[in-house]
Amino acid sequence: VQRAFQCLSQRPGMRVLAQSSLYVSSPQGPQDQDDFCNAVALIETHLTPIELLQSLQTIEQEFGRVKTRRWGERIIDLDIIFYGHETIHQSDPDLSIPHPLALERDFVITPTLEVAPSWALPDGTPLGELNSTFTSHNLQKLTSP
Ligand code: ADP
Ligand code: MG
Repeated sequence: VQRAFQCLSQRPGMRVLAQSSLYVSSPQGPQDQDDFCNAVALIETHLTPIELLQSLQTIEQEFGRVKTRRWGERIIDLDIIFYGHETIHQSDPDLSIPHPLALERDFVITPTLEVAPSWALPDGTPLGELNSTFTSHNLQKLTSP
């Protein structure tokens, strides 16, 4: 994940403004796999949402990501959680922003609030006041060495 942050900072057209701590959590979906590590980057970019998605997929390919089962193990997974305060639903390529399941995931919301404490949803709801019922994934923040 640290290496992915480095790759993000080296991609053309974007600048990493902040990166969250790393969070380890139990897997969702199939339980016969290792814990997951999640983190969020705050990025400034002039890329369009589709260009940004393609750029993230390029990094995933550089890591050698291969398709496995749904919610299964992966070397890296780079998703767009928000793009400013825009709402986007389009197909081909498939892109939904805000990321459809992000708002239900403690391992997404907690690191997002770390890099953007006053972030609000497209409807103006402050992220920190989300009245969501998170499924607990035993989130553990990794402390810096
Ligand atoms: P997941 O992230 O759900 O585990 P993948 O990384 O394999 O699965 O993504 C599958 C597809 O999800 C991608 O090809 C992409 O077109 C689509 N997608 C839709 N919305 C987003 C988003 N906000 N961020 C990243 N990918 C997205
Ligand atoms: Mg993904």
